[in-house]
Amino acid sequence: MANLILLGPPGAGKGTQAKRIEEKFGLTQLSTGDMLRVEVASGSDLGKQAKSIMESGGLVSDDIIIGMISGRIDQDDCKAGFILDGFPRTVPQAEALDGMLADKSISMDFVIELTVDDEAMIERICGRYTCAKCGAGYHDKFQTPEKEGVCDKCGGTEFSRRADDNEETVRSRLKAYHEQTAPIAAYYGNRGVLKGVDGMADIDAVTAQLVEIIG
Ligand code: AMP
Repeated sequence: MANLILLGPPGAGKGTQAKRIEEKFGLTQLSTGDMLRVEVASGSDLGKQAKSIMESGGLVSDDIIIGMISGRIDQDDCKAGFILDGFPRTVPQAEALDGMLADKSISMDFVIELTVDDEAMIERICGRYTCAKCGAGYHDKFQTPEKEGVCDKCGGTEFSRRADDNEETVRSRLKAYHEQTAPIAAYYGNRGVLKGVDGMADIDAVTAQLVEIIG
């Protein structure tokens, strides 16, 4: 049982690694980006508010995000531990998370930052896509399915790309990261709970580093 935060810019591999860690340790991945995409797809009021902000690469308001995650952490599947992916993304979100965890008597065991360089992130993000059926992740250049057009995991033949995975939006997302999210590393670093992992290494090597820290 462990609760952890994965920090890092868009494209650093947080989602990919969270899925692997989730399977290995029986934890639950909580991705605020995934939650928002579900809201957008369902056309809910929250989704309507979030849609244009996400398309422009900006950040959705702290209040919306904090409300969304607080309810989610209370659910049963989080009792065995959870991985926060894409949250917190601003210092006020990190402060709210601290308050929330204190109220619920939950500890945060690891804060792990995937360190990477920006230009590589643009190439990684602009080529990525997922199986529409099972969510397995692929990349035009770095991770193609064994048989073209067929998902290795479930045999699905439909794939989708995120609306915000285009170069212009990615540049805005990276800007938001440096201005609003990067200061969180200092927030946790000052407390001595932050660990860094080289996110430029290959996918398996990054997983191995994470397993060693969490293990
Ligand atoms: P992600 O899937 O983590 O890359 O998130 C996609 C988009 O959802 C971001 O570019 C933001 O617009 C929004 N988003 C996700 N998580 C947060 C968060 N914690 N705070 C604010 N906006 C978020």
